[in-house]
Amino acid sequence: MKTLLLWDIDGTLIASGGAGMTAMRVALQRVFGVDGSIEDIEFAGRTDRWIARRVFEKFSIAVTEENFTRYFEGYVAVLPEELARAGASARVLKGVLPLLNAVAMAPDVSQGLLTGNLRRGAETKLKHHGLWKYFPFGAFADDHELRDHLGPHALQRAVAHTGITFPRKRTWVIGDTPHDIACGKIIGARTLAVATGSHTAAQLAEHQPDAVLPDLADTNEFWNIVG
Ligand SMILES: [Mg+2]
Repeated sequence: MKTLLLWDIDGTLIASGGAGMTAMRVALQRVFGVDGSIEDIEFAGRTDRWIARRVFEKFSIAVTEENFTRYFEGYVAVLPEELARAGASARVLKGVLPLLNAVAMAPDVSQGLLTGNLRRGAETKLKHHGLWKYFPFGAFADDHELRDHLGPHALQRAVAHTGITFPRKRTWVIGDTPHDIACGKIIGARTLAVATGSHTAAQLAEHQPDAVLPDLADTNEFWNIVG
């Protein structure tokens, strides 16, 4: 039986030390000439396109495809500088690297991304830490503005890449927010919540994922859950 793992990025694999939000704020200034705080906008578990729409609404910028494109170009251009500026606070979370290596060695397991990042943002963040190579396919904010709609895109790409149709009971959506749990449940996948982002284990448990872990440090415990 084949297993599919679909990973969230921020708060699950890495902490970006605020680089993502700062890059969004700097791009707002560079592209639209608007200097303003976006800290009141919810980032965790949301897609970059959802976030951009709230930024536009807050600062009375027209919500047009052209403006999404301009803003995302600006964001992707700024992101590498901000990741570098974040220094050690942009980091791979505990246990993630050995776990990804273990998954890559496991013959019956495939892994991809299910993230609210734009594809180019995901690539920039993960390449910064040498993790991009682990994820040959994924679903991104480019696919849909709402995270709840990303699951089918991830499944489709998993089939296209591997030629395998994974049973839903062996498909795991792994993330750090209630939004990750919800988007996994919508496609009938199993859900594993990790309390390394903005939510505690108790808060995540309220949303009834199949499992909750404090972090990904215990590779054996991870395999006990998804294996
Ligand atoms: Mg996250």
